[in-house]
Amino acid sequence: MLTLTVPSARRPARRVCGTKGRCAAQAPSAEEVREALNAASGSNREAARDARQFRRSLNKTGRYTRRVVDDAESLEKMESDGVGYSRKGLVAQMRQNGNKFTYGDVTVSLAQAYGFCWGVERAVQMAYEARARFPESQLHITNEIIHNPGVNQRMHDMNVKFIEAKDDTKDFSGVENGDVVILPAFGASVEEMRLLNDRGVQIIDTTCPWVSKVWTAVDRQADKAHTSIIHGKYSHEETVATASFAGDYLIIKDLEEAKYVADFILNGGDKEEFMSKFTNAMSEGFDVDTMLERVGIANQTTMLKGETEAIGKLFEKTMMQKYGPEALKEHFMVMDTICDATQERQDAMYELTGGEDAVDVMLVVGGFNSSNTSHLQEIAEHKGIPSFWVCAADCIDVAANKIQHKTSWGELKETEGWLTPGQPLRVGVTSGASTPDSDVETVLDRVFAIMHPDYEGIKPLDKPVDVVAPTH
Ligand code: SF4
Repeated sequence: MLTLTVPSARRPARRVCGTKGRCAAQAPSAEEVREALNAASGSNREAARDARQFRRSLNKTGRYTRRVVDDAESLEKMESDGVGYSRKGLVAQMRQNGNKFTYGDVTVSLAQAYGFCWGVERAVQMAYEARARFPESQLHITNEIIHNPGVNQRMHDMNVKFIEAKDDTKDFSGVENGDVVILPAFGASVEEMRLLNDRGVQIIDTTCPWVSKVWTAVDRQADKAHTSIIHGKYSHEETVATASFAGDYLIIKDLEEAKYVADFILNGGDKEEFMSKFTNAMSEGFDVDTMLERVGIANQTTMLKGETEAIGKLFEKTMMQKYGPEALKEHFMVMDTICDATQERQDAMYELTGGEDAVDVMLVVGGFNSSNTSHLQEIAEHKGIPSFWVCAADCIDVAANKIQHKTSWGELKETEGWLTPGQPLRVGVTSGASTPDSDVETVLDRVFAIMHPDYEGIKPLDKPVDVVAPTH
């Protein structure tokens, strides 16, 4: 079986003994340690440069695509599969009516920002276009194209095979020369791209341009010998990919960890503790003595915009304090790589659940492994609003008036009698960035069916309405 170890961020960095008196038997001199670390750092920078050149060189292979072509047949199939923005259904009708809809005594309010972000829609379209362009070839996708079970099922239906990841390894043994491999919206590591290129496959790279922009940022930071401080989750595929394009890097998950690192920069601290805290989240040969002298900020695009900005400001202030304003440019780099999609959906959720128009019950629709969807659920929970996170309409049993749902802290629950037919109901609804509009429509269908047993469905519009695609 040919497998590839998911690299970099998941792999613990080499440990460096930083405590006097320990490792005495094999202890190298301080100079030897420094030389080794400089070599490691230099090789990380070199690797980052190679990664950039390699990705660029893919364009010349004739086996690499990273553009949508707006193939009419593919767009039609997406629409008939209910994968994408609604053009005739309930969500399309709500968009025409201020994101409101009333059926009998049920009033539905849809969040102003919800559902498929631009990058996810683009990735799904590219996958459909790949199927149309290579009808005879075997298609694969590295793991899920997006975090949505319905969309992934459509991929299965189109005979796209999924390259599964188990225990940090992906099994590429089923991928053969001449096959087509789709890289997901959140990207793939350079090691995976190299393997696929060596295998002679056609690569369809759906990596969102916003994610590519982050890769450009870490690449520039490597060029200038700055360590990339990546705000993200070290095991998330997007962050693994970003780390593979970086030179020296450190991944921090939140502002609290950022404060710990900033304090270390200013005041020093226990090196062993530092290495142990970030053991899975740093580049090979990471040296706390030298690699925090010049830093740059990067981010996993689904992290909270406000938190990434706060982390950037914190490091800017820290480096200014340590090296003085005149030397800031030499010690700190930042480039605007924040995608607003996550924040916009959260802002819309706050708006929907606040004020006098507050709802009686919230429905949050999205894959159970989607982290941006879990944040939406969390907002409603914090406000004390009964909120049900469902991954699809199947979670709702109409006859039994029962719902299977997930809490923001990950508990799967089943609630009976969750709706009360005969009483007026104000429902709020939103959906995560990987959720097609059809999922929202089928979920609402079941709500109406519970509240009104004679419900026969919403008549679609005769003509499709234009969709103004979100900028994010
Ligand atoms: S959330 Fe932003 S970066 Fe991620 S796929 Fe969507 S548009 Fe692209």
